Amino acid sequence: NYRKDGVPFWNELTLSPVYSDGILTHFIGVQQDITVRKEAEEALAKAKEALESANRELEQRVLERTAELTRANEQLLYDAFHDSLTGLANRALFNDRLAHTLEREKRHFDNHFAVLFLDFDRFKVINDSLGHTVGDALLQAIAAKLSACMRPADTVARLGGDEFTVLLEDISSVDEAVQIAERIQRELLSPFQLGEHEVYTSASIGIVSSDVGYNSADEVLRDADLAMYRAKAFGRARYALFDLEMRERALMLMTLESDLRFAVERGELEVNYQPILAARSDDLIGFEALVRWHHPKYGLISPAEFVPVAEESDLIIAIDCWVMREACQQVTAWRTRYPAEPPLTLSVNLSSQQFSRSDLVPYVTGVLEETGLQAEHLKLEITEGIMMSRSPAAQASLDGLRALGVKLHIDDFGTGYSSLSYLQDLPTDTLKIDRSFIRKMSSKEGAELVSTILSMARTLGMRVVAEGVETPAQLAQLKTLECDFVQGYLFSKPMERVEAERFLAQGCGLELAQSS
Ligand code: C2E
Ligand code: CA
Ligand code: CA
Repeated sequence: NYRKDGVPFWNELTLSPVYSDGILTHFIGVQQDITVRKEAEEALAKAKEALESANRELEQRVLERTAELTRANEQLLYDAFHDSLTGLANRALFNDRLAHTLEREKRHFDNHFAVLFLDFDRFKVINDSLGHTVGDALLQAIAAKLSACMRPADTVARLGGDEFTVLLEDISSVDEAVQIAERIQRELLSPFQLGEHEVYTSASIGIVSSDVGYNSADEVLRDADLAMYRAKAFGRARYALFDLEMRERALMLMTLESDLRFAVERGELEVNYQPILAARSDDLIGFEALVRWHHPKYGLISPAEFVPVAEESDLIIAIDCWVMREACQQVTAWRTRYPAEPPLTLSVNLSSQQFSRSDLVPYVTGVLEETGLQAEHLKLEITEGIMMSRSPAAQASLDGLRALGVKLHIDDFGTGYSSLSYLQDLPTDTLKIDRSFIRKMSSKEGAELVSTILSMARTLGMRVVAEGVETPAQLAQLKTLECDFVQGYLFSKPMERVEAERFLAQGCGLELAQSS
């Protein structure tokens, strides 16, 4: 209804019929303004609607949030068990899988498994020289290549840094694990193309098999790690199968450092000499000095085992200095007793630690003066690492040595570098190709790699020593490729002083090595 002023209002009208003697005569109407009630009703309906919508919204938000939480949980779970850079399993997941495998093996005796422990040779140098972006890209590429080498059931994990592990479940025997290690190493012969960089790398692989008998994942990993170290000591790009003797050896090495402190003064060190020959003529041109340690209790310990220990503690400085002085004296004495034209040269290994010392150049100068060896007949073998990450101190040492006239040779040249293009920046005129490359020369890829290094070196006017020459076939190949110098078991193992003197006295060369 409308009020007098035209404003509408809610009107409730009740009509009641009125009868007189059974006949409807009129109606009584009662009107009531119910605006207030109506408004209250509407407000209530609105409030109800608002409440319902709020409820619906809330429900929706709860649903969304739950989904979000589930996703976050899944991500957390994934992150907790995967390596973020490569997407591979991480240490936690690997340990978990390994623990399950161990459990299963206990129940089913004919279940064999093996673990491979891989460490990429000199990854750090790639990282330092080409930068972390390339280093990361390399790790990702390695992860992809490893995964491609495996069966779907195998677990490939990155433990951190350049350490990778593989769990091989249900293998018939350990031979299968060895074959897989060999396959990985074959695959790594071809370089990784990372942007503009062509990067070569190789892996040292430790293999441990369930046959040893294990109770915990930790034990398995520890032994696989030990075997990997052994593989590294064999030279790069090798694998080693764990055995119990290795564990004893490792325990022994832990006590080594304290013994090593006194090795020099107690006269336990000795220098061995390995001949280096001109490839074309088989003429002896000089020797490489290689240190040996006669431990009073453990007997002969190889430098591959104690040099790394010595490098960790700076003991290497005293050792290298002793070797240099001793070998310079020896070779000068031989030059008088066994004169040759050109005179014998001497190659000495120098650890990278030496180069950050300011007294390296004075020390070398002193040794040369004392022994009378001409500077140009002393060759210092240093690794690419020093050249790549040249600190000001190292640079000063390198400059000082060059000014002195001693020769710098790049040792273990090969794996781990970007295309050979950086070679031209190196202050050196000779490379020693790492023996892992010579070993692989029987394969087509291996031969091509050595050939590439040689032709590159030739273009840059550098000379090349091939180390680790073991077979006549390798020598023939190296001659064809016009390699300058050769060194290896084919000619002679490193010899003690007396043996080396016999070698010199008899006149040396291939005939001798092959007849003995
Ligand atoms: P390196 O400088 O690469 O020395 C060559 C190694 O290869 C030597 O091992 C040598 O015995 C071995 N070798 C030579 N020809 C062959 C071959 O035909 N086949 C095989 N399989 N191996 C061959 P060694 O004497 O055990 O020395 C191992 C490493 O220890 C050396 O590798 C060098 O890095 C280091 N080292 C040795 N003496 C010294 C030293 O006085 N100072 C420093 N800083 N390091 C040293
Ligand atoms: Ca060397
Ligand atoms: Ca070497």
